[in-house]
Amino acid sequence: MSEDLEKSAASRAKTSFGFAKVGMDAKQSLVNQVFAKVAPRYDLMNDLMSGGLHRLWKAELLAWLAPPKSAVPYALLDVAGGTGDIAFRFLDSAGKGASAVVCDISAEMIEAGRARANGEGGRLSFVRGNAEALPFADKSFDAYAIAFGMRNLTLIDLGLAEAFRVLKPGGRFLCLEFSSVEMPLLDRLYDAYSFGAIPILGGLVAGDSASYRYLVESIRRFPDQNSFTQLIEDAGFGRVRYRNLTGGIAAIHSAWRL
Ligand code: SAM
Repeated sequence: MSEDLEKSAASRAKTSFGFAKVGMDAKQSLVNQVFAKVAPRYDLMNDLMSGGLHRLWKAELLAWLAPPKSAVPYALLDVAGGTGDIAFRFLDSAGKGASAVVCDISAEMIEAGRARANGEGGRLSFVRGNAEALPFADKSFDAYAIAFGMRNLTLIDLGLAEAFRVLKPGGRFLCLEFSSVEMPLLDRLYDAYSFGAIPILGGLVAGDSASYRYLVESIRRFPDQNSFTQLIEDAGFGRVRYRNLTGGIAAIHSAWRL
């Protein structure tokens, strides 16, 4: 196929943007518009929407990563890192040898993160970049983490291939993402809360209910725990495991570049 034909086929191919179907080449700019709008209120909204639960889930990710407490160099890449929640927690819990790079496609989210970063000095940096084409050399990180970012990607398999590429052999992959609720009553309560309350809260606090509707809808489009496990294995990772959080509202997947 010629390059032009390939481009036009790619633009006709559809993917999901929440419950809507959009062209493959349109999704990223729609996602970027969402995060440009929500960036100034992102951290506050996270606390309000989850009742603080996201803090426990992120703490669980760090506990599972268990970064070394020593002065041995250990580099984390926090992809779709937004305002840097994972990277900050990592630097708090790891030893003196730890360093973190937050990589995010949104200039607005990075700006909000940088404003929080006073005092971290040279151990923390922010880089603008796409998870599907990371601006880092092969085999450059000891750990790759992505929290609530994977479902925003247009091509999850490309994101996973990039994770594999930038990890050193023996490196650790961790993904925290909303998942499929596996408790019968909780799933109905959760649906009612997320479709009913979250867009209203988004409208009141961030002045933008449509963006929060997208965030809720995109959760339902993300592969369930076992399907995502399969995608991670397909990308070449080994020892893939997951842990459900709060009945499967979220899950952490862990894997290794062996
Ligand atoms: N990781 C942070 C957290 O847990 O609070 C932020 C998560 S926020 C829900 C999703 C982030 O993914 C946004 O900051 C957005 O800009 C970023 N994002 C979306 N598509 C991306 C892509 N293709 N590459 C890198 N970042 C992306």
